[in-house]
Amino acid sequence: MTEPGELLLSVRDLRTEFRTDAGVVKAVDGVSYDVYENEVVGIVGESGSGKSVTAMSIMGLVPDPPGRITSGQAVWKGRDLIGLDDKALRGVRGGEIAVVFQDPMSSLNPVHTVGRQIAEMVRLHRRASRKQAAERAVEMMDLVGIPQARRRARSYPHEFSGGMRQRVMIAMALSCEPDLLIADEPTTALDVTIQAQVLELLQEVKERTSSAILLITHDLGVVAGMADQVLVMYAGKAVERGSAPEVFHRSQHPYTLGLLSSLPRVDEDAGTRLRPIQGTPPSLIHLPPGCSFHPRCPFARTPAPCVTDEPPLEEAVTPGHAAACHFAEEVSAADVLAPSPSSSADTP
Ligand code: SF4
Repeated sequence: MTEPGELLLSVRDLRTEFRTDAGVVKAVDGVSYDVYENEVVGIVGESGSGKSVTAMSIMGLVPDPPGRITSGQAVWKGRDLIGLDDKALRGVRGGEIAVVFQDPMSSLNPVHTVGRQIAEMVRLHRRASRKQAAERAVEMMDLVGIPQARRRARSYPHEFSGGMRQRVMIAMALSCEPDLLIADEPTTALDVTIQAQVLELLQEVKERTSSAILLITHDLGVVAGMADQVLVMYAGKAVERGSAPEVFHRSQHPYTLGLLSSLPRVDEDAGTRLRPIQGTPPSLIHLPPGCSFHPRCPFARTPAPCVTDEPPLEEAVTPGHAAACHFAEEVSAADVLAPSPSSSADTP
């Protein structure tokens, strides 16, 4: 684990909804977390848990309409990003906070060379001549391990493999030396070997540049290998938050336990069946009463308190480790193995 530095980003009680014909979708519902210098914060959860919308909200990338941030703060180096106008946010995006998305092909412009696209980013956020920006592009491609960077800078996105395109995206994101890199499912579209290379690259980059990383993924194996702090999200809410060793080895929420149990393990016999979490995530328009996880929870006691009272996210068992469960202490005593850092699988 890395020693954290100064507080960079403080998100408090963030709420983002989407208005649809079927009703209001509460995609993010009162989420809070901090990101410090040099730190990797992992946000984990199933698809639709609100983890990406959490990050997109602070970057001003939620389309309005249908999306709307209804409350909360995202204080970046002392300035609240929520409600900043587009011009002010553009100054932060790319230069101070950069994003690497899941699908590099749709993020890169197919009609420009990758070198030009990285150089444009440099010119947009830094005072640099065309020549300096082009040199910086080559330097960054070299940094992220693209062979023959000077020659490859003249290639177009379709001339790169998926893994190399993701390296280009990381080079572009890092070209302006951001203080925070948001990596939104950076390895999901890649095969396992390339996934491992990209994660290793992110780790190296963090060590060399001291950037903080907000790593958004559905894959607990990815987070186990990299994150210092972990936020587990379910149905738009944070259900567990703490240091990675605490969350993985002393989980206090049955959902986190379920995610851990559903991972395939190298130390189990071949043919051992996976243990998926029963049921499916709830509709974000009609959430179950009380604890939203209760229809799927093996620890649930119904009707009270699990169906009648929504559990707050609180540090009831260990300081610095919070869970939203009425029976956090009992859950933390349950015997479930944590994933090895390299294990990786889709959560159900
Ligand atoms: Fe399960 Fe009840 Fe805890 Fe919710 S509050 S996670 S239903 S035990």
